[in-house]
Amino acid sequence: MKIDILTIFPDFFRGPLDYGIVRRARETGLVEIGIHDLRAFTKDKHRTVDDRPFGGGEGMVLKPEPIFECLESFGTVASREARLSPGAKQSVILLSAQGRRLDQTLAAELSALDRVALICGRYEGVDERISEHLADREVSIGDYVLSGGELGAAVIVDTITRLIPGAVGNQNSTRQESFTEPVAGQAKLAGDGPSSTCVSGGLLDYPHYTRPAEYRGMAVPEVLVNGNHDQIRSWRRKTALAKTLRNRPDLLERFALSEEDRELLAQIKRDQSTARD
Ligand code: SAM
Repeated sequence: MKIDILTIFPDFFRGPLDYGIVRRARETGLVEIGIHDLRAFTKDKHRTVDDRPFGGGEGMVLKPEPIFECLESFGTVASREARLSPGAKQSVILLSAQGRRLDQTLAAELSALDRVALICGRYEGVDERISEHLADREVSIGDYVLSGGELGAAVIVDTITRLIPGAVGNQNSTRQESFTEPVAGQAKLAGDGPSSTCVSGGLLDYPHYTRPAEYRGMAVPEVLVNGNHDQIRSWRRKTALAKTLRNRPDLLERFALSEEDRELLAQIKRDQSTARD
């Protein structure tokens, strides 16, 4: 996959994309990331990328010309019409607090593309003609306002890179992660996944522990050290359901629960009401 980032702060990306899975994916050629300085596409001696808003009001707005000309300079990006047609493998994304909120479903969709361009806004935002005529979609990384799109672009690069087959050593581990939507007919992990491991099925991941088995009087749950894989799997599912019920009950409404899940949830609720009495 080729990812292009359009920004007025190219140095921002020194670091965030140079570690762990993203670094390895870059080194092995799974992803190629181009960072493009929008100031290189200005024509005045001050390299001006922003201007005051028409109609008055606060702050400055990123001008359209450097952004259009930067994207056009790639040459290989398909036309907007082609990008918006069904089955297109490219997307031009404007980072915006007003966009569709990024989630694991959108990340999976983007990770299947061949080419993604990420336009980072600054100041009061970018000239609206970018979202009207250049970008294919606006994406937000959450309901809050950042100073610029660079952090959002780094978040998108990270989350989509780890979903590209081959980026994570054991691809099964991305299936068990929080928010990962269930795939029909895959109740347990296939291949080399141990039978004690369960997929999240769109819920939150189960709790993880490692050595030492006891630290400052805090012991790892007994079930995890007894080696009974069925019991471990059931405990993991129950704790994942309990954590989802506590922190993200909305997810329980969104994904279909199995018969076993419903029984475990009923147990959790009974345990909670006993603890309250
Ligand atoms: N005036 C805009 C508004 O109220 O929606 C906020 C502009 S913000 C200060 C500057 C830039 O930061 C935006 O153009 C966008 O690129 C980026 N940005 C801010 N919040 C964001 C978010 N939640 N997700 C993605 N990008 C964001």
